[in-house]
Amino acid sequence: VAEDVEAAFGDPLTTQLWEAARRGELLLQRCGACGHHQHYPRPMCLSCDSVDLAWVVAGGGGEVYAQSRVHVPVHPTLERPYVIALVTLDEGPRITTNLVGGTVSTGGRVRLQWLARPDGLPPIPVFGPDPA
Ligand SMILES: [Zn+2]
Repeated sequence: VAEDVEAAFGDPLTTQLWEAARRGELLLQRCGACGHHQHYPRPMCLSCDSVDLAWVVAGGGGEVYAQSRVHVPVHPTLERPYVIALVTLDEGPRITTNLVGGTVSTGGRVRLQWLARPDGLPPIPVFGPDPA
């Protein structure tokens, strides 16, 4: 696992993503040619193949596209049950994440939160019920 983390941090695309996570910002790429947003970062636009990509900070809102409550964790350190979800961000990209802090119906509104991790690792983006 340590090698995987090291490899991920060595990628210039993901380095910026994780640095932003430490500031509490979820970065997306926005295409200057067609306006498409994407996450996670890639070297070119998935919609039009342009390399004219700029970082933008996600607004933090989204909608639950799909979810599954997991009762048999894939790793013993994971507290069960936990909820894996696909969340469609307001900007368009769909992110694989966890739902925390309460039940949200599929199709329901959620808001970005950050889950702290030990050992100096950057926090990871999770989503909870939208208080608004
Ligand atoms: Zn594009």
